[in-house]
Amino acid sequence: MSLKVVKFGGSSLADANQFRKVADIIKSDDNRRFVVPSAPGKRFSDDIKITDMLYKCFDLACSNLDFDNEFETIKQRYNDIISDLGVEISLDSDFDSIKNELKSKPNRDFAASRGEFLNGKILAAYLGFKFIDAAEIITFNTNGMLLLDETVKKIRTKLEGISHAVIPGFYGSTTEGIVKTFSRGGSDVTGSILANAVKASIYENWTDVSGFLVTDPRIVDNPDVISVITYKELRELAYMGASVLHEDAIFPVRTAGIPINIKNTNRPQDAGTMIVSDDHEFDDESSAHTITGIAGRKGFSAINIEKAMMNSEMGFGMKVLKVLADNNVSFEHMPSGIDTMSILVDTASLTPVKDIVLAQLRKEVEPDHLEIEDGVALLAVVGRRMKNTRGTVARIFAAMAHARINVKMIDQGSSELNVIIGVSETDLNEAIRRIYDMFISSEKTE
Ligand code: ADP
Ligand code: ASP
Ligand code: MG
Repeated sequence: MSLKVVKFGGSSLADANQFRKVADIIKSDDNRRFVVPSAPGKRFSDDIKITDMLYKCFDLACSNLDFDNEFETIKQRYNDIISDLGVEISLDSDFDSIKNELKSKPNRDFAASRGEFLNGKILAAYLGFKFIDAAEIITFNTNGMLLLDETVKKIRTKLEGISHAVIPGFYGSTTEGIVKTFSRGGSDVTGSILANAVKASIYENWTDVSGFLVTDPRIVDNPDVISVITYKELRELAYMGASVLHEDAIFPVRTAGIPINIKNTNRPQDAGTMIVSDDHEFDDESSAHTITGIAGRKGFSAINIEKAMMNSEMGFGMKVLKVLADNNVSFEHMPSGIDTMSILVDTASLTPVKDIVLAQLRKEVEPDHLEIEDGVALLAVVGRRMKNTRGTVARIFAAMAHARINVKMIDQGSSELNVIIGVSETDLNEAIRRIYDMFISSEKTE
């Protein structure tokens, strides 16, 4: 029998109407047995997510300020869902104890986690499924690192003999029993861990788009849906900012060989995107595009170093990287020429130690020229088919030249799965649009 773990994102559970769609989806397939809900998200573009409201309450509580109004708005949103659905449940005592806890000993993660906790209770009551508090199964060490083996054991024990359950996403607790959340968007991770633990045949991740799109819909209008993507490709895109699925949601299912299906709660009839193992055998390569997806991220700096005869100086690169490592700055890319080298690093981690890094580099490698350039964006063009296709990099260059976009660096990963391009932050969106046109729009008309 196949068993499905299904996760529903915030917009899928933003109001009673969305809850009805979710229940229809779950009830239409009895294999959809374990359900992971997010907190209610936005109902319209200017709306505020429950999670954000809870963070606000926490901030106010920490400053000893009154948060009654904010808390009332939160209560109202849940109570509207309850009354509109007509479920027999009252969250009044939960509201009281959460408020008291926020007042007496505010804990940021506890505050945020209540969004999922309360929504899970409503969903469980509405579906007639058992509610299981994620704090009892998802376990972190005191530093907030997930203890996967322990978590998996607890899930298996807890779910034994339970056929259907709702387990709220986003949080768990430390071995000392303190509530801890994943980073934002972390309900995806809960679903993935659960799928691993119960050996699900598939992990369905239900959201508000009909799958993983070739690129961010806020940059390109109506981009194509990717029908099949491998975990490796997805990881490259997720790392570069394609934010449909939390980056850490990939590992637990990937190791267990469980595919993820990204589906649209508002259009369940759409096939969505299948995320499959890296050795998946594709049958119809011919109709697909050369590239699978494009994603980009801002906030990088380039450390540019010039020195005559740098290439013949033993250990030059090593000395440079040691300076960075000593200052806790990790590097993303390091394109180099004969007498030049650029190291791309995250601006946020470089800024606090910038002067020290510059001083140490001057001392260690005595460069002829050394400068830091901020405002760099990196974009990744990802595709498993690039390996067998010639001229991809040339086409990217042509697209950039046509748009008069200056390419600061280009780097092709050794797996030939991706090409990374550095451009100015102000050129990022246009660069993505040009690459989309070059590889997706024009390949369609060929
Ligand atoms: P959920 O609340 O269901 O977890 P998210 O907001 O986390 O949903 O993720 C879905 C959103 O991700 C979409 O509404 C879309 O705006 C955005 N997005 C960014 N990049 C992509 C992409 N490549 N494909 C699809 N959606 C994307
Ligand atoms: N509610 C949390 C957030 O807004 C977690 C999630 O939605 O996955 O980040
Ligand atoms: Mg999400």
